Amino acid sequence: MTNKEDIFKKVISHAKEYGYVVQSSEIYDGLGAVYDYTQNGAELKKNIKDYWWKAMVQLHENIVGIDSAIFMHPTIWKASGHVDAFNDPLIDNKDSKKRYRADVLVEDYVGKLDAKIEKEVAKASKRFGDSFDEDQFLATNQRVLGYKEKGQSILKRLGKSLENEDLADVKALIEELEIACPLSGSKNWTDVKQFNLMFGTKLGASAEHSTDLYLRPETAQGIFVNFLNVQKSGRLKIPFGIAQIGKAFRNEIVARQFIFRMREFEQMEMQFFITPGTQKEWYERWKEMRMKWHLSLGMGQENYRFHDHEKLAHYADAASDIEFRFPFGFKELEGIHSRTDFDLSSHEEYSGKKLQYFDPALNKSYVPYVVETSIGVDRMFLAVLSNAYQEEELENGTTRTVLKIPAVLAPNKAAVLPLVKKDGLPELAHKIMAILKWDYNVVYDEKDAIGRRYRRQDALGTPFCITVDHDSLTDNSVTIRYRDSMEQKRVPIDLLNETIKDAVDSKNWLKALAE
Ligand code: ATP
Repeated sequence: MTNKEDIFKKVISHAKEYGYVVQSSEIYDGLGAVYDYTQNGAELKKNIKDYWWKAMVQLHENIVGIDSAIFMHPTIWKASGHVDAFNDPLIDNKDSKKRYRADVLVEDYVGKLDAKIEKEVAKASKRFGDSFDEDQFLATNQRVLGYKEKGQSILKRLGKSLENEDLADVKALIEELEIACPLSGSKNWTDVKQFNLMFGTKLGASAEHSTDLYLRPETAQGIFVNFLNVQKSGRLKIPFGIAQIGKAFRNEIVARQFIFRMREFEQMEMQFFITPGTQKEWYERWKEMRMKWHLSLGMGQENYRFHDHEKLAHYADAASDIEFRFPFGFKELEGIHSRTDFDLSSHEEYSGKKLQYFDPALNKSYVPYVVETSIGVDRMFLAVLSNAYQEEELENGTTRTVLKIPAVLAPNKAAVLPLVKKDGLPELAHKIMAILKWDYNVVYDEKDAIGRRYRRQDALGTPFCITVDHDSLTDNSVTIRYRDSMEQKRVPIDLLNETIKDAVDSKNWLKALAE
């Protein structure tokens, strides 16, 4: 087992042990690719959503938020293309009987080529030391260029065959690359087939009078079908955006990698309505703005990259992913798509209603173009959690497990710890709780020795520990301990709230967006 796989397993068990995420229906042996967020996970998830909502809705004069229903008229999914095109190309391995997404098998193969490039870079960097110029190396090293070219040509061919629905060629590609089943190593494949990812259900009591419905596979369509309602009631002028956070459902075949690919998940999507012809410019702007949002959390610039698509979805004229370095490699975290007027025009056609905007500046009506930003809450959660998980060697030779979650997102901002369970210290600790709890979540803990309680809060990701000792009774001060540096400082109780608030206030984190 490689070290990275090892870490990922530890993250998953840590998530369970410390109240973040568990498998759904665990006492019934679980339900595949469905997860429950427990007490700390629910808080972290809420904080991620708030951080997004503030950045997208609150800080933009021209973006508003909605909350549309999960059930929608079934024709919407015909208009959106999901009934016909929301298909994944699947392939079965005849020996292991395992089913895979054919495009993912090929993409994983290319991912391995990328990993080889990274290895070459690491090797060369070691060899050349300080004089190493990574950009020059990437641009000139023959081996690296070979891998890069091979990867690009594979993705190009995959994109073309999927676009032309040439599934035979996708299979041929898998065979030519000699891709083996990751589980069994067998190369004995079936043909590639399409499979629809939407969950069906029924509306209505009796079988004869019921209507077939789908659970929405994305939140975006709830925005498109409300485009005119929102535009008119808000008297919005193009360019403007509509944002939404909500559940989406996909009958994913290859459900794996914990909460990376789930059957029930949550999306944060924003559709930005613009004048046709300006999509390139807005697409680039939103790519940049979304990357800034990610970087504002301080999880390391080196952990993000753009991946521009060769293979475009049926609705897009340009698309890029923001990829994050998960423990299993760089993978999609967010998508930015230039969707043209595909959705609105299609809804005009299927509904028979006009979905046009009268542009006073141009003195004409048109169907707006759309640039979309779409990120999975759960994937963002996994990015935060896996990046935060660290095992640190300490000077005294021991190790500590710590979740270095950005303080703005941490479930609890502070833990209040009376040094001992007597002498009036618990009472003072509760007084401090009563002051702080109005502004953020604080927890109280009086069990075990103080060192163990620090370790426990480190593992929970709490940025500050506040220790109340005997001196506190007379000097009205407490010791504040910082999770990341383990530094300790004496602070007057009066200044405590200010100190913590400053560090956890989303305002101070989101400021980076304005720079
Ligand atoms: P993938 O290629 O990984 O299946 P996608 O391209 O189908 O993703 P989109 O349809 O663009 O994804 O959805 C936007 C975002 O929603 C993704 O970037 C991801 O963060 C999230 N997402 C999509 N499918 C899932 C899922 N099954 N589980 C969790 N998050 C998901």
